Amino acid sequence: MTRAVWLRTLAELAALDYSGWFAFHNYNEPLADPRILSLVREARRALARAKLTIYTNGDYLTARLLDDLCDAGISEVKVTLYPTADCVADEPMLSRAVSFLDHLGLTVASHAEHYRRTELHAHTGHCLVRVAVPRVTRFSSRAGYLPLGLLAHPTRALRKEPCLLPCSSAAIDWKGNLKLCCQIYDVTLDQYKPYNMGNIESRSLPDLWFSDRFEQLRARLALARFGADLAACRWCDFRVAPGDR
Ligand code: SF4
Repeated sequence: MTRAVWLRTLAELAALDYSGWFAFHNYNEPLADPRILSLVREARRALARAKLTIYTNGDYLTARLLDDLCDAGISEVKVTLYPTADCVADEPMLSRAVSFLDHLGLTVASHAEHYRRTELHAHTGHCLVRVAVPRVTRFSSRAGYLPLGLLAHPTRALRKEPCLLPCSSAAIDWKGNLKLCCQIYDVTLDQYKPYNMGNIESRSLPDLWFSDRFEQLRARLALARFGADLAACRWCDFRVAPGDR
């Protein structure tokens, strides 16, 4: 998306006094972006009450960069330490999280167990740092995009449950496409085109978010009425697990 659209979108959220979570990723590594500190600063200037968060695999995260992110106004950094392919089914090794916090010069403040991960928490200034060692086999299939063989509980059953994810979470890709939900990897692929709610280059984010089309799809999802146009939902195994955000 262009810089003008980025700034306009921040202004639109500021006009709504947006105070929810605001994350800088969508199937990418945000800390690989050389603009990340200035993007965080701009978001913080526009959205004083928003909870700005970085989801990262930790490859580029140093103690210095963490300090700079805090100074720029980030509220939370979540580091996920993915396993190598040969260890994918192993239980999380907490020692990896301990070592990572050590590498950042931080002390463990608390420990949390979730269905999909084990986490250690630490604080630096006003920023919470969560270092997670995931249970990858408990991840969702990303609406059928990932091979089911990887997962501990693969499902080939038709989904009968409603889905409320698109009521609370907006996912926008790097091209500015607003997706129906974050579980959809790429709305430019033929099978996921119906999941593209429009592009914020040509319409404002609030306009798309509150559009008739988006509202109609949310109403159908709340009743688990997926239909042929929402084929990925019919096989989607995404469920909110305790501790998810
Ligand atoms: S059911 Fe549909 S809308 Fe809900 S998470 Fe899955 S793909 Fe997304």
